[in-house]
Amino acid sequence: MGVLIVGSVALDSVRTPFGEVEEVLGGSATYGSIAASYFTDVDLVAVVGEDFPEPHRDFLRRRGVNVDGLVTKPGRTFRWKGEYGFQLNEAKTLRTELNVLETFQPTLPPRCRQAEIVFLANIDPELQLHVLSQVERPRLVAADTMNFWIDGKRDALLRVLKEIDLLMINDGEARSLAKEVNLVKAAQWILGCGPKGLIIKRGEYGAMMFNSHRVFIAPAYPLESVFDPTGAGDSFAGGLLGYLAQSDDLSDGNLRRAVIFGSAMASFAVEAFSVERLKTVTEEDLQTRVSEFKAMTVFEETVP
Ligand code: AMP
Repeated sequence: MGVLIVGSVALDSVRTPFGEVEEVLGGSATYGSIAASYFTDVDLVAVVGEDFPEPHRDFLRRRGVNVDGLVTKPGRTFRWKGEYGFQLNEAKTLRTELNVLETFQPTLPPRCRQAEIVFLANIDPELQLHVLSQVERPRLVAADTMNFWIDGKRDALLRVLKEIDLLMINDGEARSLAKEVNLVKAAQWILGCGPKGLIIKRGEYGAMMFNSHRVFIAPAYPLESVFDPTGAGDSFAGGLLGYLAQSDDLSDGNLRRAVIFGSAMASFAVEAFSVERLKTVTEEDLQTRVSEFKAMTVFEETVP
């Protein structure tokens, strides 16, 4: 199984307490695709403008991402400018320039219509619905969103929730979506809107996976140096879905394992600006980090 990813491909400008970058490669589908490409075949569906630097497309191709669905339209590429304070968990959006994203209506290449695992990464929920209507028989559909759409396109987003199996959002987004401060109550409200599963990402505090009767909690990897949290959520989702696709097993137990692989990919993403660290992850880096996750959480029920 491969993964179909639709979302944004962006030029990001980001400021964190540790530095600043201008117009670097970013976007929800970019991070998601790179992370998933460590596990499985990835089809990327997104739009860029004529100003999108060709080396970025070449890099995605070299990572094994199928970019046939990455179309170029007249105009400027989507741009996002954000800032993080010392509390690195939440980005403050300084500017969103939709540009070519505003009128994008993707037609899926025939191959992508057969996709078994679909990731509707953060993008206009109307567009998420448009893509989903073209996929024939997906086995798992996961989606992400953000406050920009929760506030601006709530009705379309509620329609997305009815169509998906798994929603992955951060704690602030879960609270705004459910209009509820308590995360457990917010999770129950969101599950009532349609998805069978919900993952709430909590930055340095890890992730919580809810379904109607159970919760699974995974820590975040305790990193000494976090440079740029941008893309952590998308890398988490890409890693998780890539792992599920590679193992061809959508059981609850495997979903728990997938959360750890997603957390490992997210931990790499934040170690440098843009996709710089994500680019260089090796099989050994990944296995070491997953083993460390295991060592951090395993315990005996009784004292030996
Ligand atoms: P994350 O940090 O995982 O939530 O995602 C960060 C990525 O989301 C950045 O690289 C941005 O380019 C992208 N992004 C920010 N705002 C939007 C938006 N309104 N629609 C789609 N993508 C966005």
